[in-house]
Amino acid sequence: MSLRTLSSLGDLRGKRVILRCDFNVPLSDGVIVDDGRIRAALPTISALRSAGARVVIISHLGRPEGAPDSRYSLAPAATRLAELISDHVAFAEDTIGASAETTVANLVDGAVAVLENLRFNPEETSKDESVRLAFAQKLARFADAVVSDGFGVVHRKQASVYELEQILPSAAGLLVENELNVLQQLTDSPVHPYTVVLGGSKVSDKLGVISHLLPRVDNLLIGGGMLFTFLAAQGHSVGSSLLEADQIDTCREYMSRALELGVNLVLPSDVVVAEAFAPDARFVTVPADHIESSPFGSSGIGVDIGPTTSAEFAKIISASHTVFWNGPAGVFEMAPFASGTRAIAQALSEVDGLSVVGGGDSAAAVRVLGFDDEQFGHISTGGGASLEFLEGKVLPGLEVLGW
Ligand code: ADP
Ligand code: MG
Repeated sequence: MSLRTLSSLGDLRGKRVILRCDFNVPLSDGVIVDDGRIRAALPTISALRSAGARVVIISHLGRPEGAPDSRYSLAPAATRLAELISDHVAFAEDTIGASAETTVANLVDGAVAVLENLRFNPEETSKDESVRLAFAQKLARFADAVVSDGFGVVHRKQASVYELEQILPSAAGLLVENELNVLQQLTDSPVHPYTVVLGGSKVSDKLGVISHLLPRVDNLLIGGGMLFTFLAAQGHSVGSSLLEADQIDTCREYMSRALELGVNLVLPSDVVVAEAFAPDARFVTVPADHIESSPFGSSGIGVDIGPTTSAEFAKIISASHTVFWNGPAGVFEMAPFASGTRAIAQALSEVDGLSVVGGGDSAAAVRVLGFDDEQFGHISTGGGASLEFLEGKVLPGLEVLGW
């Protein structure tokens, strides 16, 4: 089976097309902090408009409790979109009610409307399939076709992602198509040397990815909070660092599998240990196998990879032709502990080949640390979705598009 793309929908002139986007942008007091997700939708919006379609955008934003809540209104996103396309964008104050009906009815060919937050309706995310289906049928009244382009939600069985696509003629948008092309290169045909860099807070989030990618990679570099569970698996004490004791055996198993497969699994040789989990805490660099030798003893917290490790990781990364990175190397939100993450981002930007950043916090980290999106081959817009894809799972929202 292959993914149905825009061309499969035929001539869209005069047709009403629902476009499922992921406009789940970070907001602060109603102001959009990062409009990356709206920008990511522009190619598909533009393609649909040029084809003469009447574009009806639907999305979720945040986690409202299944009822209208002005803090999660999509109105700021509609306003931002109007600025980005330098054109009028109509906005409906509900998702399937009278306002949505009038707004869609008034659209002319090539025009764009945004309907209010899908999640103001509890049906969108209901566990009950028939409830989701009924909601999807109400949405379907507004369109002749649906284009699914919210890559960040394709791993979810939700009405706008899964049921709607089975009611109307449906296809993937350009963003979903592009994400898949890149992710597929990471699983099917990577150019070697292939390096995967993992970090972030929890090992348990990333175990599936390690398991699926281990037979495919040359180097697996471990940083972030998860490195301490690996160090514990080697028998080292890790002070008060993040530790998932119930994953120690699994980490040990991965280390021996890596050995069997000839994969170079690299754990840090030095780490930064802080006296407290705070940006102004005292900190020192110690050998990774002697964390409790720091002046803070068993209360020291590992917060970043050390400079020797950063240099070693950077060398391996920049000598690779395919690199996938998920999860910050340290607590980058605190400036003194962002060095490891910065070194990895820098090395990724120097890769001669394909470099991919996946994960919401990792994408935020590279932007906060002053890198441009263009310095990387690809920054995935879907953290959970990209990880599940790389775990080899079937994603419901892609399955319904013929994938
Ligand atoms: P992503 O969203 O990119 O998949 P995660 O959500 O897995 O990444 O992890 C991001 C978080 O991991 C960040 O908030 C960062 O502060 C945290 N983190 C990184 N290193 C450590 C560490 N040593 N101890 C605690 N938290 C850490
Ligand atoms: Mg995260």
